[in-house]
Amino acid sequence: MLIRGKHFVTGQVVDVRVNDADGVIADVAPPDPACAPDLGGGNVFIAPGFLDIHINGFAGVDFQNPALTADDLARATREQLRHGTTQYLVTIVSEAHDRMAACFRAVSLSREERPELARAIPGFHLEGPYISAEDGPRGGHYVNAVRLPSWEEFQRFQEAAGGRIKLVTVAPELPGMTRFIEQAVISGVVVGIGHTAANEQQIADAVAAGATVATHLGNGSHAVLPRHANYIQVQLAEDRLNAAFIADGHHLPPYVVKNFIRAKGVVRSILVTDAVPPAGMPPGVYRYGRVEVEAKPNGLICLPGTPYLFGAATTLENCVANVIAWAGVSLADAVRMVTDNPARLLGLAPRVLEKGGSADLILFALENGRLRVTDAVVGGQHFSSTP
Ligand SMILES: [Zn+2]
Repeated sequence: MLIRGKHFVTGQVVDVRVNDADGVIADVAPPDPACAPDLGGGNVFIAPGFLDIHINGFAGVDFQNPALTADDLARATREQLRHGTTQYLVTIVSEAHDRMAACFRAVSLSREERPELARAIPGFHLEGPYISAEDGPRGGHYVNAVRLPSWEEFQRFQEAAGGRIKLVTVAPELPGMTRFIEQAVISGVVVGIGHTAANEQQIADAVAAGATVATHLGNGSHAVLPRHANYIQVQLAEDRLNAAFIADGHHLPPYVVKNFIRAKGVVRSILVTDAVPPAGMPPGVYRYGRVEVEAKPNGLICLPGTPYLFGAATTLENCVANVIAWAGVSLADAVRMVTDNPARLLGLAPRVLEKGGSADLILFALENGRLRVTDAVVGGQHFSSTP
């Protein structure tokens, strides 16, 4: 397959040849006027597909559902492709042990049944249950489900997940957490700090134990904090920590997104959606875990009848455009925050547009400051964003 588009880094038009059989990029070269491309053209950009390390559901599909089927997961995967996300970590949040284990098993089974799901879902993000029980830091996590760290329980989760829990978000201040983080890191799991009320020393201990990312920094926190000595400032200043941001304008105002990205620098910044089932759907009331959530016409997701945020309805397509507008970063840098940066955090193959790379690609237009994904090519197969 021959794909033509503007390289997302240089802006120069290139021809990308993809080996249909193995889905590998055979060549990236200046455009050959003698050859008509199978896909794309001089007006669209070409970039690696997006990787979302924090997503709870999409297109009405709830990942926190023990009865989740391969068809459900395939639908959510296909709908995310339309917005440029070609890979994602299924995120499982705090619940009773058996229910969480059943969720891991349901997704693992679907991955075994369908190669396209195995490819799209490199693994899981376990968010909780070893997080703060305090109102504010706990966010929307079910209060009776949060608990103290247990390496023994985590190993049972890992078993249900087929060893594919890649990222675990924890609160450093819980008793026994330093040891838990060390064990997780030794076992090859990336540790995130989130839903926490930790002090400076506790964050330093977590980082020394091997935590490498701040999970949705600025969210899952108290509404009011001491102006200097607080866990957001401490995590911003800790250069060994990457940070993930929900850059939707609701979870973080645009000026906070700008400050955070400037503090962390492009190379440590990762954009996530933290999307819940109503994302990618019309406004209405949807099931998410054990609650119902309401998607408002303005894009807010709330507990019905309340003003409290309960997950996001954004896409990485929107977040990339937002950080270009709000933080003054280039298109190339904004795309890195949803491709190579999260891949590096997880130890996955680099996501670059180069010969020999995986042809996990998207095409998009950039019009009036908005990104519109038009096509995706995954495993040598073409998917149009137009229904
Ligand atoms: Zn959260």
